[in-house]
Amino acid sequence: MIVCANPAAQYQSYQAEIDAAVLRVLGSNKYILGPEVSALEEEFSRYIGAAGCVGVANGTDALELALRALRIGPGDEVITVSHTAVATVAAIEATGATAVLVDVDPVTYTLDANQLDTVRSPRTRAVIAVHLYGQAADLDRIQPFCQRHGLALVEDVSQAHGATWHGRRLGSIGDIACFSCYPTKNLGALGDGGLVASTQAALVDTVRMLREYGWKQRYISDLAGRNSRLDELQAAVLRIKLRHLDADNARRRALAAVYDAALAGSAALVPAVRACCEPVYHLYVVQVQDRATKIAALNAQDIFPGVHYPVPIHQQNAYAGRVRTAASMRVTERLAGTVLSLPMYPELPPDDARTVARTLAALG
Ligand SMILES: *Cc1c(COP(=O)(O)O)cnc(C)c1O
Repeated sequence: MIVCANPAAQYQSYQAEIDAAVLRVLGSNKYILGPEVSALEEEFSRYIGAAGCVGVANGTDALELALRALRIGPGDEVITVSHTAVATVAAIEATGATAVLVDVDPVTYTLDANQLDTVRSPRTRAVIAVHLYGQAADLDRIQPFCQRHGLALVEDVSQAHGATWHGRRLGSIGDIACFSCYPTKNLGALGDGGLVASTQAALVDTVRMLREYGWKQRYISDLAGRNSRLDELQAAVLRIKLRHLDADNARRRALAAVYDAALAGSAALVPAVRACCEPVYHLYVVQVQDRATKIAALNAQDIFPGVHYPVPIHQQNAYAGRVRTAASMRVTERLAGTVLSLPMYPELPPDDARTVARTLAALG
């Protein structure tokens, strides 16, 4: 069986290190916000080149707390894409702000910067650039747009830990950056986890307060915060995975090269890479016609691809009619019917990737 993602395979790769770290935490008598979380924050912050980093409970909370630290709330609008994890929009709504969704570029599947001006209003406060599938959004144009109009730039790096833009790590470019550490992500815990990073120390300090009841000093709430703490156990696991992140991302890129070569000339449209950026292939997404038939045929061969994402957020029951969108969402709506995520994780044997590509190519 060839699956889309396989966090158990990664645990097995680093089992001796992870088991030792977990046992150390179990006997430490420190289970919440202890030395593992502090060390992870320090190490991850250095890794991406930020001023600081805060461990939180998950990626959705990372986005919500980042927006709150920017003082975004009811009456404000935040621009992002409809072609993303629902978490991006759920986090905007959790602050009380309104999500304004734009279309994506047909080549890179990330935010179409041409539409930013068409949806901007006096209430616009921020843009969330989602670095989808492991590749940078069009920061060359999104960043100047935000600067020109005094908007905050928030990076959603949940699918692009370690990827770069003009040689800089994603997450060190905007005002604040959010990472999910869900088990299948490039930097994945063995449970839920998230990280917020910023090059601005004041924003880091505010998120640190917001994740625990607005405390700077224990039991003294200076802000109306919440509980969004990261466990010591997950932090210990993430510290080990972080040491291997660059090598794991290189394995993903090698698998992408296998797919690129094996699918060249086939009916499947392979992903394009922005010249200025090094991607990390959280997902390897092709476009196919007649997707349901192809998935059924692949499943019959014991191959289980994924679909990210089958329904645009602005067409989901929960959001239709509530979120504002750009006039045309044509690309997003088309992609929902054609995207197919091929199996992609660092431990996937290259021969399995060849088998997947050959099987798909043979379907025409
Ligand atoms: C996974 C993901 C999130 C949310 O992360 P959780 O940890 O599941 O809350 C947010 N944005 C994007 C783009 C994601 O892929």
